[in-house]
Amino acid sequence: MITTDDEVRALASTVTDPEIPVLSIADLGILRDGHLEKDGTVRLTITPTYSGCPAMDTIRADLATVFAKAGHEKVEVDLVLSPAWTTDWMTDEGKAKLQEYGIAPPTGKAHAGGPIKLGLAVKCPQCHSLNTREMSRFGSTSCKALYVCQDCHEPFDYFKVL
Ligand SMILES: [Zn+2]
Repeated sequence: MITTDDEVRALASTVTDPEIPVLSIADLGILRDGHLEKDGTVRLTITPTYSGCPAMDTIRADLATVFAKAGHEKVEVDLVLSPAWTTDWMTDEGKAKLQEYGIAPPTGKAHAGGPIKLGLAVKCPQCHSLNTREMSRFGSTSCKALYVCQDCHEPFDYFKVL
């Protein structure tokens, strides 16, 4: 059984994005809080990313599963929509994992009122060249764009700044 809030957050952090399995919900920055209530209920606070990226229902189910395995059947997941998640919440460790996985991490910063394009080049995750070009606004999921590297000619996904 889990006895501390730190353990709640550590266990919740083992749940990963169903679409990008190398990224935990802590890496993504969507796990806001977690604590254990007096009656043993695990209460988690999550800020979802925009729809379809990643799948919140899967994450909720996975959270219930990991806590059930630890002996906690009662898991409440509160969704907090404000402030809205942006890619700025992704941890540096998460961005490094994305790159290793072959997805270019978001470059630049999102701002209140919407993302501002800072004109930062997207780095090829294979050869680290900045000589890349967008092929499609939408990659394998709506949160990614499809890029191609003009040096090694490999296509890759870029996690868009939001
Ligand atoms: Zn390349």
